[in-house]
Amino acid sequence: MLYIKCPHCGLRSQNEFAYGGDASVKRPELNKEISDQEWDEFVYLRKSPRGKHLELWHHVSGCRQWIKVLRDTSTHEIFNTYKSEEKVG
Ligand SMILES: [Zn+2]
Repeated sequence: MLYIKCPHCGLRSQNEFAYGGDASVKRPELNKEISDQEWDEFVYLRKSPRGKHLELWHHVSGCRQWIKVLRDTSTHEIFNTYKSEEKVG
């Protein structure tokens, strides 16, 4: 079982969270013309990296905030967590 440190609530069980996907995906700019292929890639295509990965998690059974989690996908080690609006270098 994972324990995730919510930046708002503190250390909590993974059972309180829902995985939300890749946090590094950027939505295309509003009102910018993009091709169908670019839109398709934004909506559907995701990488499945092995190693450190920045992910979105939703604290469903807690503060109900979205957070970012820097986690190793092969060992499940969590290096850091961030508020959703924080820039992660
Ligand atoms: Zn929380």
